Amino acid sequence: MGLFDRKHDAVPVERPERSESAVTADPATSIANGQSPAPDGGEPKARVIAFANQKGGVAKTTTTLNLAAAFAEKGHRVLCVDMDPQGNLTMSQGIDPDTLEISMYDVLVHHTSIREVIRRREVDVACSSIDLAGAEIAMSTQIGRERSLEKALKPILSDYDFICIDTPPSLGLLTINALTAANKVIVPVQCEYLSMRGLIQLQNTLSMIRENLNPGVEIEGILPTLVDTRTVHAKEAIEILEENFGDRVFASRIRKTVRFAEAPVKGMSVLKYDPDGKAAFAYRQLAKEVLDGR
Ligand code: ADP
Ligand code: MG
Repeated sequence: MGLFDRKHDAVPVERPERSESAVTADPATSIANGQSPAPDGGEPKARVIAFANQKGGVAKTTTTLNLAAAFAEKGHRVLCVDMDPQGNLTMSQGIDPDTLEISMYDVLVHHTSIREVIRRREVDVACSSIDLAGAEIAMSTQIGRERSLEKALKPILSDYDFICIDTPPSLGLLTINALTAANKVIVPVQCEYLSMRGLIQLQNTLSMIRENLNPGVEIEGILPTLVDTRTVHAKEAIEILEENFGDRVFASRIRKTVRFAEAPVKGMSVLKYDPDGKAAFAYRQLAKEVLDGR
């Protein structure tokens, strides 16, 4: 029987206890800001969310930017980190990766301060360019290569409420760096049977990360994207997701609309491009789900 056959043998999902309730210093302010309270009573720190799925074209970049823009609209300080050599996130805020003198490559490989590659747009963006494609090989001989991003983010954790990391379509070292730096993972999933099978591989990678690198990282939620509500197939695919992953599937659904293709061409999020449209509303709903802790 296939893993996603419609039976009640649900995929076992590891779900560590949510840690936010173990509040420490100044919980009211830090939680209202969306930040994680600092366990040592120090300054509150950004919540770091990685957006991951090794499949391409499932709306990782779209979700990273638009959820980030929705947090920013609520008054949160937000940084997006582009960890994909294709630089789509960088481009979708109107920045040409080919014109960058330094980028995330230099941060990860040469330990340049991440502040030097941040540009201010609707949200702050730590930019990437095609150079980043060489980072996995350049880092491969470095000790602590899985922790380069985590280390780079440390000095700026109290500058932001949210840090949203976009990842490439693979489970290689760049994605491993993102999952190691993150508190939470959001998994955008295109609602098609074949796309969903890849989730098992992602869960295996996450288990490995928990065992070896980042014990606290958890899935914040699985987000059905590119949903075509008119098809029976999409409805069934969401039902299968819910049967297998239960309440880890966000209540928000991101429907298919051409707005998501139009907005990046203008260098904007959909929230800015079409503020009153359904697409913007969907990401505001998602932001609410994440902020309210569901
Ligand atoms: P990934 O980062 O996972 O490769 P993208 O965010 O780049 O995926 O999205 C892939 C393509 O699908 C892009 O052209 C994007 O504009 C488009 N897209 C994303 N979300 C939607 C949506 N809800 N409806 C229609 N097109 C979408
Ligand atoms: Mg992408």
